[in-house]
Amino acid sequence: MNVKKKFIFKSEVNELLKLMINSLYSNKEIFLRELISNASDAIDKLRFNLVANKNKDIKFDDNFYIRLFFEGNKLIIRDNGIGMNYDEVINNLGTIAKSGTKKFLKNLNDNKSLNKNLIGKFGVGFYSCFMVSNKVKVHTKSIFEENSNNSILWSSKGDGKFFISNLYKKNNGTDIILYIKDSCKEFLNKNNLISIINKYSNYIDFPIEYKEFDKDKKKYIWKKINLYNAIWLKNKNDISKKDYKNFYYNLTNNLGNPLIWSHNKVEGSQNYISLLYIPDTSPWNIWNRDEYKICLKLYVNKIFIMDNIKDLLPYCFRFVQGILDTNDLPLNVSREILQDNIFLKKIKISLTNRIFKMLEKLSINNKKYNIFWKKFGVVLKEGLADNNIDKYKISSLLRFNSSKFNKDIFISLEDYISRMKIGQDKIFYITSENYISSKNSPHLEIYLKNDIEVLLMVDKIDEWMMNYLTDFKGISFCSINRNNINNLDNILVTNNNKSNLINTSLYDNDDNKLFINRIKDVLSKYIKDVRITDRIEKFPVVLVTDSNDISTQMLKLLKSTGKDIPKIKYYFDININHILIKYIKNVKDENLFKKWIKFMYYQAYLIESNSLENSVNFVNIINDLFCNFIYNN
Ligand code: ADP
Repeated sequence: MNVKKKFIFKSEVNELLKLMINSLYSNKEIFLRELISNASDAIDKLRFNLVANKNKDIKFDDNFYIRLFFEGNKLIIRDNGIGMNYDEVINNLGTIAKSGTKKFLKNLNDNKSLNKNLIGKFGVGFYSCFMVSNKVKVHTKSIFEENSNNSILWSSKGDGKFFISNLYKKNNGTDIILYIKDSCKEFLNKNNLISIINKYSNYIDFPIEYKEFDKDKKKYIWKKINLYNAIWLKNKNDISKKDYKNFYYNLTNNLGNPLIWSHNKVEGSQNYISLLYIPDTSPWNIWNRDEYKICLKLYVNKIFIMDNIKDLLPYCFRFVQGILDTNDLPLNVSREILQDNIFLKKIKISLTNRIFKMLEKLSINNKKYNIFWKKFGVVLKEGLADNNIDKYKISSLLRFNSSKFNKDIFISLEDYISRMKIGQDKIFYITSENYISSKNSPHLEIYLKNDIEVLLMVDKIDEWMMNYLTDFKGISFCSINRNNINNLDNILVTNNNKSNLINTSLYDNDDNKLFINRIKDVLSKYIKDVRITDRIEKFPVVLVTDSNDISTQMLKLLKSTGKDIPKIKYYFDININHILIKYIKNVKDENLFKKWIKFMYYQAYLIESNSLENSVNFVNIINDLFCNFIYNN
C-alpha cells in the first residue's frame, strides 16, 4: 500500500474529537502527560515482548528514550518503543471505536453534567492532542515489521476523517507530530514543556530528552528533563539508604531529613506501591487548615496524577510525605471520583495502619521520637477526635512532660501507669500555659510532696484533647486543677499519709469562720466559696475549678476563637498556716483587709491563668499595700 487512504472515524470517535477540539479541558497541558504516558507504555511493551518472546533475532535500540523536537509550529514526541503496524494504527487510533470511547460517550449521555476530567478515564487520552493541535501526524514502525518502507503515517485534522499511507521509517517506535494551534503557542516553549514534564512525568522510567547546543562541546547534546527514576518501583534490596534520602529531598524540596520511611508493595485485592516518609521538619503552613493538605502524591503507573488528596490519609497524619502508585485507578481519575472511591477508602485504612507501624517503630528510638514529637505531637493529638482512627493506638503514641522530669523528657502513658502508687486509680494531670507554670503550680505541691507523678499538659490543644481522652487501658484521667479531692485521699490513706485537702475541722473554729465570712464579703462576686486547705504550703492561696465547670485553659482556648464565655467562679482555697494569711486575718481596717484579699485573689488568678484582665488594678493594689507598710513603719 503506497497510496494515501482516507478513512472516516467511527461516529463515537468523531463525537469525542469534537469535544476535544472545543476543548472542554481546562488544563490543556495534560495532553503532554497522556502522550508521554503512551510513549512510556510503548517502550514498556517492547521490553516486555522481548523478554516474554525471547525473540533474539529482532534488532532494536536498547537505549530507550522519549524525545521532544521543536520545528516551527511543530512539536514532535518520539519514542523508540514497540511501534504499531497498519492494523494496530487503525484499531488504536481510528475507525474501530475502542470500547473505552463508547463507554465514555455513554457516560456523557447518561450524565449531562459530566465532569470534564472524565475525558481520558476510558483510555481515550491520545485524542487530547487535538486540544492543542489543528493537525496531528503519527509516524510509526512496529518492532515486528522488518521492512522500513512499510512503516505507517497516520494523519488527521480531527475533522471526521483520517489518512493512512506508508512512509519510510528506519527505526522502530513512534513519532507523534503535533501542529500546534496559534492559540496554544505556549506548548512550543521549551521551558514551559520542561515544567509540565517535571510536574507530571518526572518519574517516568525512561529519559525524556530534548536537544540543546553545548557551547563547550560545540555540538548538540541530549539533555534529560525528568531527573529521577521511579525508585519506588525497584526492589527494596536494590535501593540504598542514600537513594531513599535523595528521593525524599527531591520529593519534598529539601524539607529537613526523613526520620523513618516505609516502602511497600501490595498485591491482591488491592494493587499499589507506597513509599512513606516521616520528616523531622514541619512545613511552614501545616497549621493552616485551608491551605495545607495531605502531602502524598498519587501516581498511576509512574505518572503523576495529583497531590493534596483530601481523603487519602487521616488529617492527623498530614505530616507524612510520600507517594502512592497504583494501577487500580484510571490515568485521568478526577478528585470528584476519588471522593467516593472504594479503592481509595481501603487504601486509606491500609496506609493508616502502615503509618501507625512506622510511628510505633520510631517510638523505640527515644531521640528520634522526641524530634518527631516536638514537631508533630500536636498534630497527632488531633487524631483523638477522629472517630475513624484507633484511639488506643494514638494514646500509646502520646508523650507528655512529667512532674518528675525536666522539660526535655517526654513520657508515655505506659511509663506513667508503670509508676503509679498503690491505691492510685487515676492518671493525674495538670493543664497549664507552659512548662514552667505547670511545674511551679500550687496545685502540684501536694502531689510532689507525696511523690505522686503528674502529667504536665502544656499544649494549647491539650484541654480540648482531654475531652476525647477519657482513659488509658481502663484507667481514667483526673485533672488536678479541679475539685477532685477524693481521688487523692484514696492514695494518701492507702499510703498512710495524713491529708486534709479541705480541712473541715478548721471551719468549726470561730476565728476562722469570721475570717472566711470577711473574705466572702470581699470576693463573693468572683468566687464560688472560700475553703481552708492543706493542699498548699508554699502558697497562701490557690484557685480550684469546680469539677463540672469549664477549665481555665479551655476558657482561654474558646476565647481565642472569639467566643464570649462567662467568667469562671473558682473555689478560693486558703492556706491558714501561711504567714501572710495569718497576718491578713488580723488586719482590722476593712479597707486594708479588702486590698489584701484582692491582692491574694489576683495573685492566685495570675498563677491559674498566666495573665490578668486588669493588671493595672493589681499593680495599684500592691503599691497601696507597700505604701501603707512604709507609712506604718
Ligand atoms: P490508552 O493509552 O489509554 O489505551 P490512548 O487513546 O492514549 O488510550 O491510546 C490508544 C492506543 O494507541 C494505546 O492503547 C496504544 O495501543 C496506541 N498508542 C498510542 N500511542 C502510542 C505510541 N507512542 N506507541 C505505540 N502505541 C501507541
